[in-house]
Amino acid sequence: MPLEEQNYWLSTTQFPTLVASRPVPELVDVAVIGAGFTGLSAARTLAKRGARVAVLESESIGWGASSRNGGMILSGMKLGVNKLISRYGRERTQRMYAASLASIDCVEQIVAEESIDCDFVRSGHLEVACKQKHFDDYARQAEVIAREFNHTLRVLQKQELSSEIGSDIYYGGMVDEVSAGSNPARYVAGLSRAVVKAGAEIFEHARVEALERNPRQGELGWKVTTSRGTLWAHEVFVGTSGYTGKATPALQKKLIPIGSFIITTEVLPEPLARELSPRNRMIYDSKNYLYYYRLTPDRRMLFGGRAAFFPETGETVRRSARILRRGMIDVYPPLSDAKIDYVWGGTLDFAFDIMPHAGQMDGMYYAVGYAGHGVAMATYQGQKIAELMAGDKPENPFVGIPFPGAPLGLYNGKPWFLPFAGAWYKFLDWVS
Ligand SMILES: Cc1cc2nc3c(=O)[nH]c(=O)nc-3n(C[C@H](O)[C@H](O)[C@H](O)COP(=O)(O)OP(=O)(O)OC[C@H]3O[C@@H](n4cnc5c(N)ncnc54)[C@H](O)[C@@H]3O)c2cc1C
Repeated sequence: MPLEEQNYWLSTTQFPTLVASRPVPELVDVAVIGAGFTGLSAARTLAKRGARVAVLESESIGWGASSRNGGMILSGMKLGVNKLISRYGRERTQRMYAASLASIDCVEQIVAEESIDCDFVRSGHLEVACKQKHFDDYARQAEVIAREFNHTLRVLQKQELSSEIGSDIYYGGMVDEVSAGSNPARYVAGLSRAVVKAGAEIFEHARVEALERNPRQGELGWKVTTSRGTLWAHEVFVGTSGYTGKATPALQKKLIPIGSFIITTEVLPEPLARELSPRNRMIYDSKNYLYYYRLTPDRRMLFGGRAAFFPETGETVRRSARILRRGMIDVYPPLSDAKIDYVWGGTLDFAFDIMPHAGQMDGMYYAVGYAGHGVAMATYQGQKIAELMAGDKPENPFVGIPFPGAPLGLYNGKPWFLPFAGAWYKFLDWVS
């Protein structure tokens, strides 16, 4: 299968053109690092409040995970609700779950306010069970979610699944009508236009190389050295997610960058597309090493997974394309002759406790750790941390939870253990 790496979403999206030669300003209120959902959402909120904001992006707008993802805007978090309750207690977990629902509203509201043409639609999501015991757990989860969070999920027996998915390999499913889908590249491009409209400046190809705190109390906070020059900033906000690097070493050590990969087929005939996904849901399965898939607005099957654990390179992308195509045909045999038009990869950020984290570290503000649930949560955290910086006291249950590092401190930001972690997750899928 000879294939060039190419991101389907980018082929549908026009990004704003910025003046490449413009010098970075000498002084700003806030330097935002990273022009993905997190950084742009923060910049938009801050600029609307009148702050002078420079967004510094080492590549180009949306270059990171924000233009590369599946566009699934999902309720809940990566960890299951029982795990969350046992770890954080009922009250905080209730607030976390409410925040996950509010984060979808937050995206919907920004899309409407800024008239972003990104195919946002409340299509709902479908989780499908790969084993009987995974399905048995759905009923228990739905009951806890209804009781504790007053939110309704619909559990579907195997024989009811054909109204949701044209595949008979699963043991049942669970639907949340509240989740949504979008074209993420168009969304991040639209968000960047909203940032500029609000009065902030975005600098592409401006890698932040060093951050130094001014040692003199009461004077300007940060000296920010970038590949396009130096600026001073009263505050720094870090939204670098899976691409967090040496400029913020303390944060880098708390995050594991993990590769995720996607293929998309050619445009499918309408009857076939309808047969595969009759309700156009955002779909993912119940494994640790999971597959996620959906139709694109122009009726391609988009099929993703953590096919290789390492971040994207030519080699991991090509290998993943082969693995994902086999996985897609296992789910959907009628796609065995479908041409694969696009394949690409991107990097997710996992914290060691698989939770989102936000707040202040070493005097900098940050929001990270979305673990593949970042379209809505990154937008929301960017907004909430910006409100905190502006002096509000926004509700944010993820601020202040423990942010663990690697066990025994055995990690310097280079994930040497990923092959072992990948093998471990495969093993868990086999036994659990
Ligand atoms: C293949 C894939 C599929 C996914 N699918 C989904 C999905 O369907 N639903 C969902 O909710 N989530 C999904 N995710 C996760 C989601 O895309 C991310 O959580 C989200 O985009 C994170 O946004 P962000 O702005 O924090 O980070 P990013 O979009 O990764 O942006 C970080 C930016 O920081 C920049 N940067 C890094 N270091 C520096 C520096 N020193 N100086 C300047 N700039 C710097 C990078 O260049 C990058 O552009 C997926 C992710 C991937 C990779």
